[in-house]
This record gives sequence, structure tokens and C-alpha cells, in this order.
Amino acid sequence: MRTARLAKEIDPAITTVGICWTLRTMPEAVMDQAPDLDIYIRHEYEVVTPHIISSIASGTDLGGISGIAYRSDRRINATNDAAPLDDYDSLPLPAYDLLPSLEPYFVTAPAGKPFTILYTSKGCPFRCSFCTVAGTAWKPRSADRIVEEMRYLKERYHLRTASFFDETFTLDRKRVARVCEALMTEELEINWYCNTRAHLVDREMLALMKRAGCRGISYGIESGSQRILDSCEKSLKVEQARKAITWAKEAGIKTFCSFIFGLPGEDWDSVKETLTFVKETLPTSAQFNVAVPYPGTRLYRETMGEGAESADFRKLYQDSAVIGTEALPPDDLDRARKLAYRSLYLNLRWWTSNLGHVIRNPEDLDLALRYAIKIADNYLVHGMKHAH
Ligand code: SF4
Repeated sequence: MRTARLAKEIDPAITTVGICWTLRTMPEAVMDQAPDLDIYIRHEYEVVTPHIISSIASGTDLGGISGIAYRSDRRINATNDAAPLDDYDSLPLPAYDLLPSLEPYFVTAPAGKPFTILYTSKGCPFRCSFCTVAGTAWKPRSADRIVEEMRYLKERYHLRTASFFDETFTLDRKRVARVCEALMTEELEINWYCNTRAHLVDREMLALMKRAGCRGISYGIESGSQRILDSCEKSLKVEQARKAITWAKEAGIKTFCSFIFGLPGEDWDSVKETLTFVKETLPTSAQFNVAVPYPGTRLYRETMGEGAESADFRKLYQDSAVIGTEALPPDDLDRARKLAYRSLYLNLRWWTSNLGHVIRNPEDLDLALRYAIKIADNYLVHGMKHAH
């Protein structure tokens, strides 16, 4: 929003356009609180954006474009929902050529540069009650198209690291195998990271992914309590989660696991089950969040009430609870979160296990040192507020 304001200060005629998937069900509130934003694209960015550009270029009315909210005569208008993209492969490769270089972009460790994120699919058909993406159609790109993009990035930018931002990279096992085989055949030597569900991996797949350059995998585990996993419709067994972490470690892939405290039914017993799960499985790193009732989710409807007016979205952060459960008020959930970080940070076995990984994979030393500094900073300076 600050960028939009700056643009308007430079020239009020500049059209400012923004996206935010999380708040897509409350476009009026977004526009109301973002006075320098002219157009808010609520969803289906790939489908909607070309129409916006054409409309701005030709000076035609925005009212016929689905999936947006915009200002007109001091009023905020929200249009109907846009149709999702049917064929992801029909899109051209992103216009990387408009960037002079990838040099300024990296996540965490400059040693991984040149780096980019990319999507190989979008959407997730699972139904986790807290998730804003839940129940959206899975739209994959073909293995050929993914490898074409990676080849282009290697040839033109000498890409070393890619992060696949898909919610569920391994939903189609055969597609994963095709991508991995092609990356190995072409010897692209790109290290990559992905997100997926813990029940959508197996030993053989993870070993193949490692050979094809996979260095880390993020699993949304959410809880070590089966009762809590069932209450939020995670469709995951604790045992599957345990195996997914073990198999990835065996394959030499780092595991980044996220957990949520405060899902319906959470009490101190289930918190303890999560802490025990973490101590037993020792993921390479873990993110502990509190449950957030994001608009549009089942959790929102259940905790705020059907048809509730939108919550104050400026308070919806995963490091400070705004809702509690029957047994645990928000303060207790914040306490559980800190307890979880402490139980990992002060765990000698965890440090030893990560040290072992760095000894076996010295190229990760830079990343590991940065992570250790971040932990110290977070623990000692920020009171585990911004932990990752
Ligand atoms: S599996 Fe992940 S992305 Fe899919 S609905 Fe659940 S939390 Fe959301």
C-alpha cells in the first residue's frame, strides 16, 4: 500500500493494481482501507490481468471484468467471480526477460543465487478447515513445460536454486517422476525446494526427487494429535506424517514442517502430543503458528459465526492468537507456540541431527549458519515473535 501511495504521489494518473488471495472474500473492506489502490484483483490473476491491461490501454469500463474490485465515481464496485484458468500450459513462460538479472532475488542464503520461485501447479483439492486454498481445483503444468522453464532459466540466468511454490507439488506421482527424470537427463543441476502433503510421498519418490536436485521439502503437519487432525479435516494420519519426515531424512532431503496451535478441540493434552511428535521426529526446521480464522475458511465460519462481518484483517497474523479454543484462551495458545520453539531450540539431539546434515552436505553450511543466527536473534531479541 505504501508503494501505491508513492506511485500516486509521483503521478495521480498512475493506475495502481494489487492482489491478495487471503482477503478475496472482502473486497469492499480491502478497497476501503487502501485508498491509493485503484484495482484489487481478487482471484484468478492469470485470467483477469490481461483484461485489465487491455481495459486500461483502451480506456474502456472495468465493470465487465470478472474477479476484481475497483473505484468508479468514488464508489467501490466488486464484479462477479472470475472463471478459473483451464489449461495452465496455455500460458507463456513468465517474462523473465523483462528483468535485467535475477541477482537481487534470493531467500535466506545468497549462496543459492541465482534463485527464483516458480509454480508447477496451483490449487489444492483437500479440505483443511483453516486453509484459504482448500477445495480449489488442482491445475498442473505438464512436466515438459516445467522443464522448459527450468532449462530456459539455466541457460539464460545460470539458475542454481528454484523454489516450487505449489501447495501440493506431489499430487500426481507420475508427473513428479517425469519432472525428475527430465531434470536428471538434461543435467540441469538446479537445486529445488517444494511444498506438499505428508501422505503424498513415499520412500522411492523421495529418493528420486533427491537425485533430481530436491534439497528440501515443506510439509504442513499441523498437529501431532490425531484428534486435532481429524477435527480440521486434514485427512492425514500422524503415522503418515512421521514416516514422511523419516523418509525425507533418509533420502537426504531437509524437512521444514509447520504446525498450528488452536485448531478446534486443542487442549494442553493435544499440545503435548504435538511437542512429543516434534521431539521424536526432529524436522530440520519447524514453524509453529497459532490458528487464524482467515475470511472464507470453514474455521472462520465456525469461530466467527456464519455470515459474520469481516474480522479486523490487520490482526490476522499467525504469531499472535485472536481466537482460542474451549480449553485454551488465546494467551495459552501464544504460550504453547513459544513452548514449542523452545523445545526445539533447546534440544541437543536436534542440533546434533542438523549438524550431521551439514557435515554430510557442506554446501548447506552458509544456509545453516544463517538459520542458527536467525534462531539466536529470534530467541534472544524478538521473543520468538517472528520465528520460521
Ligand atoms: S493440504 Fe495444504 S494447501 Fe491443501 S487444503 Fe490443506 S493446508 Fe490447504
